[in-house]
Amino acid sequence: MEESKRLKKLPPYVFAELDRLKAIERKKGADLIDLGMGNPNIPPPQEVIEALISAIRDAQNSRYPTFDGCPEFRSAAARWCKKQYGISVDENDGVIPLIGSKEGLIHFALAYINPGDKTLVPMPAYPAHFRGTILAGGDPVILETSEKTNFVPDLDRVDPKLADSAKILFLSYPTNPTAAVADKKFFEKAVAFARKHKLIIIHDFAYAEIYFDGKKPISCLSIPGAEEVCIEFHTLSKTFGMAGWRVGFAVGNKELIASLKKIKTNLDYGLFSAVQKAAAVAMDIKGEYLDQMRATYQERRDVLVSGLNELGWEIEKPQASMYIWIKAPSKHDGASFAKLLLEKAGIVVSPGISFGDIGKNYVRIALVESKERLIETLSRMKKANIHN
Ligand SMILES: *Cc1c(COP(=O)(O)O)cnc(C)c1O
Repeated sequence: MEESKRLKKLPPYVFAELDRLKAIERKKGADLIDLGMGNPNIPPPQEVIEALISAIRDAQNSRYPTFDGCPEFRSAAARWCKKQYGISVDENDGVIPLIGSKEGLIHFALAYINPGDKTLVPMPAYPAHFRGTILAGGDPVILETSEKTNFVPDLDRVDPKLADSAKILFLSYPTNPTAAVADKKFFEKAVAFARKHKLIIIHDFAYAEIYFDGKKPISCLSIPGAEEVCIEFHTLSKTFGMAGWRVGFAVGNKELIASLKKIKTNLDYGLFSAVQKAAAVAMDIKGEYLDQMRATYQERRDVLVSGLNELGWEIEKPQASMYIWIKAPSKHDGASFAKLLLEKAGIVVSPGISFGDIGKNYVRIALVESKERLIETLSRMKKANIHN
């Protein structure tokens, strides 16, 4: 049976080989330290778990949710956006709940991209930023970024004809996998660029709350005029350690939100009401949870970065996200280095090529195990004589 052209056009799934090798090591009884997937291990706030349990007890929540989402969720999302990012969100038609932001990102591409349409994607990138375009039959055009530009694209160097012919500009700061951050000036430039060239800005704000040393990332929608062109994707996956719950939302331009809602109405029935109600409790959280979450990641970051630097790397501490993006030692590319770490030290990391060809000499390390396990990671590397 022949798969569709759109499936065949997707780049191969490079994790498959690593998964196979992981299974072999596990069978041998290896105690793997898995820093591969960006899969948070910090549990959600206790009151959110309690809220889910009580919402499940209410039989009404077992019925289909409305397409608009629960009013409790929408108003909590609007309060959250105001409180955390200073942006105004209309809780009636300015926000849509999502079954995780990945769902929304891919479906948004289906709502706007025709075969042959172009999108602009800074690379390295989170796969959903280019795979959605491919699934819709479009062509993602790479905006290369590198260490020299702190992994932020130089929009002045984009060919104006290309910009005019493209439909969407994907942005995501702080960035997965490079941990890049962007300042207000960059977003101002991006919004002006998008308005000039009639582009939609998708801002994927997954790491909005994981920042260090008090340097808080800004929302693209906080830039004047952004609401004319921008839809911003938020998720509870990283902020509240709720990746398995599948809950996020999009806010911003109402026409863009309405199109996303239209396509979702044809594809899914929305997000479990009990999860929406518990997520509303999370977004109204008071107290220490977020500070503790940041402190935990910061401590892990500090341990791993100083340890890697002792092993010969020269990396700076990332200001945000939960990733360390490092170059493989010179005799390796990212994939062979990941294989070495797995086979010689039982350490799992992601080969950089998963985030586009431009990342092929890098690996991404996710800070998703405890500080003690990260110390163990470093001592295993030392023991196995793995260094830069
Ligand atoms: C983890 C991540 C997401 C989150 O996806 P969910 O579907 O909300 O779990 C989105 N974008 C980026 C860049 C991510 O790293």
